[in-house]
Amino acid sequence: MYNPIGRRDKISGMLLGLAIGDALGVPIETQKAGSFDPITDYRAGEHRGTKTLLGEWSDDTAMALHLAESLISRKGFDATDILFRWLGYLTKGEGAARPGVVFGVGGTIQKSLLLFQETGVPYPPRDNSIMGNGGIMRTAPVVAFAASAGEAALLACLQTQLTHNSLEPLMTAGIFAHWLWHALEQPDALPYLIDRAFGQIQDPNPEGSCQNTIRVAGWAFQNFYKHPQSPKQMILEAVNLGGDADTNGAVTGALAGAYFGASGLHEHLIDGLVDLERILTVASQLEEVSRAQLGVGSAT
Ligand SMILES: [Mg+2]
Repeated sequence: MYNPIGRRDKISGMLLGLAIGDALGVPIETQKAGSFDPITDYRAGEHRGTKTLLGEWSDDTAMALHLAESLISRKGFDATDILFRWLGYLTKGEGAARPGVVFGVGGTIQKSLLLFQETGVPYPPRDNSIMGNGGIMRTAPVVAFAASAGEAALLACLQTQLTHNSLEPLMTAGIFAHWLWHALEQPDALPYLIDRAFGQIQDPNPEGSCQNTIRVAGWAFQNFYKHPQSPKQMILEAVNLGGDADTNGAVTGALAGAYFGASGLHEHLIDGLVDLERILTVASQLEEVSRAQLGVGSAT
């Protein structure tokens, strides 16, 4: 049965988990496992010359929050509105963890957004050689907004297509939207869905591609399911593989947060996030819009 209190906690958990995994991975992005001290908590670091703070999240969370704020403000999917927000982030650092400080934006995203700036055309041309994970990293908000698993998958593909108009990114975004939807609504089905998609995942590759990243998240969940542990440990397992650690952390964190809810996440990690207030506000407003979509109405 639909439970609005549970759903609010889970939507908050999904966005908080995304930001937590992102922030845990930022200090070791691109590093190989074994070349760094394993991450156990937030760590200050440096990202290609930019000093990063404890709990500071990167483009993954910033773009997801912009997408969420567009869904809230437009009460629907508005491709142009989303792209202007992302462009404001890329070019001026609007909505960054620290306003004006932008790091970690991948080449495919930069190219697509600058093409939009130049042409005003929302969807870049199809290019099936693109394999990046920039679509699935920001899938969470559309899943919270959608009225069904099918709509979640459709919106996940549409928001992916804005920067990654390519077969594999679209396919993985659709699959990941199904996982997140079921983590929110029918968590008992999640182990089955992950097994059906990829079987038992062995030796996940942390290097940044959509297929690799979704497998990292599936692997971390399968490990949790076989040997129950804390959501923090599940996220850290993904992060400590190294490679595209922030995006692997963001995707795994969103899945863990949707499954366990905010109340299941480590309080210290929630409290340590930069600009926590904005994430909580977005989660709450997104849930209100989402409930309207579901026809549930207000709590009063
Ligand atoms: Mg990033």
